[in-house]
Amino acid sequence: MSTVKAILIFLRLWEIKLIDPKVKETDSLVVGLKTYYSPGSEKIAAELQQLVSGAIKYYEEKYSVHFNIKLMVLDSTRWFKAVVPFGFVFYSGDKWLVLNAGMTYSQFKSVYNLSEIAAQLDGSIKANKITAPDLIYSRLKFLSLHELGHYFVDKLTEAKSPNFWTNEFVAWYFANEYISQREPEIKKGFDVFCRTVANNYLPDHKSLQDFNEYYSNLSKGNFAWYHSRFYFLADALYKCSGVAYLKAYEKNFNKQDTMNFTPEGIIERINANCNEITPKWVKATESNIIIP
Ligand SMILES: [Zn+2]
Repeated sequence: MSTVKAILIFLRLWEIKLIDPKVKETDSLVVGLKTYYSPGSEKIAAELQQLVSGAIKYYEEKYSVHFNIKLMVLDSTRWFKAVVPFGFVFYSGDKWLVLNAGMTYSQFKSVYNLSEIAAQLDGSIKANKITAPDLIYSRLKFLSLHELGHYFVDKLTEAKSPNFWTNEFVAWYFANEYISQREPEIKKGFDVFCRTVANNYLPDHKSLQDFNEYYSNLSKGNFAWYHSRFYFLADALYKCSGVAYLKAYEKNFNKQDTMNFTPEGIIERINANCNEITPKWVKATESNIIIP
């Protein structure tokens, strides 16, 4: 049996064992993209459905593809705690996006292990004149589209990311392109979050090689630090390449391409002719230089 077939069977079993019973505990929205939610979370489920549907429509029209995806928006009482801690939104690998139904600010800091930088986060929220709920919600919206980005790259393109960091980066590109194009007001809160984490969290690991090597063993804070840095790379490249970038990524990292990329070759291909953006970003990230 091929690995792909084995994975597909595993995912189907996962759906039968975990998702199907969960569906019975939820309510669902009657119109639009199939969306299940914890009782009481209808408002946020409808808002996330609208955001995800907008992004789907945008990319379906842009690339003539069809997204076959369903949403599940869960509160902490109904979360898949046995699989992943509450709050960590995920794409099941098949057709489910599992999103959280929001949380309080104190929950937010404890869920993502941000206690070490709690004072800086409080300060950034004040200095940027946003509210904690705005910051939490803008991050959830970005993450929802980041997960949709994983689905898109996996299922609807010919791209194959060469390693973990590029795979995470390209999902941020996907999320950021849509949000920059259609929902730019979400960017501020997320930008404040990423800047605060990238500039204040003291990471144990900073190199791209470490990210690939320790991917599933990084602390939550260190993981958030890397992701924040990836977002800034995605945003800088978006300002250079705009809506043409994802096609370039597909061409540069194509499934048919069997070549083994060197780390330098990957950086060159990620950069897609955008001057020195990516090499500079790598240097800044690996030396943990402050993002202005
Ligand atoms: Zn991801």
